[in-house]
Amino acid sequence: MKNSKIQWCDDTENPVMGCDGCELWPTVGQVLAALISLVLRFTKLSRNEVRAVIAPIINEYETTTELWHDRELILIDLQQEFPDMPASDWERTIEKQFKCYAGTLHLARGGRPDDWSEPVSPGHAAIFERPVNYPGRMAKTAKRPDLRGEVRADKPWLNGLPRLVFVSDMGDALSEGIDFDYLKDEIIDVATGPDGSRHLWLWLTKRPKRMAEFAEWLRETHGVPWPDNLVAMTSVTNRTTRSRIDQLRKVPARFRGLSVEPLVESVDLDLTHVDWLIVGGESGKYSREFDIEWARSLKEQCSEANVAFFVKQLGANAVEDGFPVELRDSHGGDWNEWPVDLRDREFPSGFGRCPHKTTQVA
Ligand code: SF4
Repeated sequence: MKNSKIQWCDDTENPVMGCDGCELWPTVGQVLAALISLVLRFTKLSRNEVRAVIAPIINEYETTTELWHDRELILIDLQQEFPDMPASDWERTIEKQFKCYAGTLHLARGGRPDDWSEPVSPGHAAIFERPVNYPGRMAKTAKRPDLRGEVRADKPWLNGLPRLVFVSDMGDALSEGIDFDYLKDEIIDVATGPDGSRHLWLWLTKRPKRMAEFAEWLRETHGVPWPDNLVAMTSVTNRTTRSRIDQLRKVPARFRGLSVEPLVESVDLDLTHVDWLIVGGESGKYSREFDIEWARSLKEQCSEANVAFFVKQLGANAVEDGFPVELRDSHGGDWNEWPVDLRDREFPSGFGRCPHKTTQVA
């Protein structure tokens, strides 16, 4: 548990560390494909010939975490085969694909090839793609003081709200291997207990289909409805991932939210039965452009659909009318630097009316 710098919450908590991936984290196959494309720029060999050389080297790895830690050894092998390929291009090709913040932190704090049994920093998954449960963390966070009616000096937009706890910023608790009994004990029972029901829990996943299945399982197996103080949230980063919103609608939550971050292209969204939308541009070394017109368009869509609109950050590479927007904050998270019309940090009005009864599910 820790106080968070993330603008839309007070704290973060992770009942599960690690994740089995998404569009922000490459599979071994995607790394292989990127490397083949890179090598093709420096050789006259055909794609199949290049693949025949590289695939046996790369396919030895089950996870990209393991591949990442061996990248210098792999490069030595590849440079023997393709001596014209510059090391810097190889490095950039690899690094550009590892976009998930949680995953890159795990690369620094997880295990090492000489000992995958222990992470360097306790409390992390040794291999990011093999999530690990940390029971008890949620209950500890639930004991934190009640913030209803309180002022937050550093995040005034949260003033008066209950404590907002972002669940799962360092992995995805709905990754395939995590069983529903654990999620019930760790998340549902804590959120609805005497300590947890004083707070609002914001559970973000890129697997809303599995979240809806979990809700169904809770109701059918235990007769437990979805807690009112557990906001169901998913992420949309581009047009392809919009279908997650349809899956989120199947979660019988009182509040549903979207994290539209990092947004990499303009999107039109169906916001039916969505209560809250957070938008943000990408940060980090290889951040992609974020056209602030995309945020303006989402603001308009939220206004039409009566959805609370929250701008988290403009990212490290914001553009307006084709020109870079100069921002001192490396994440573009200081709203004093933004165009005035985008200084919006709203919450659904119902967030302030917690604590909660629990909506009965038919
Ligand atoms: S933690 Fe989230 S962003 Fe990172 S790989 Fe998993 S689903 Fe993607």
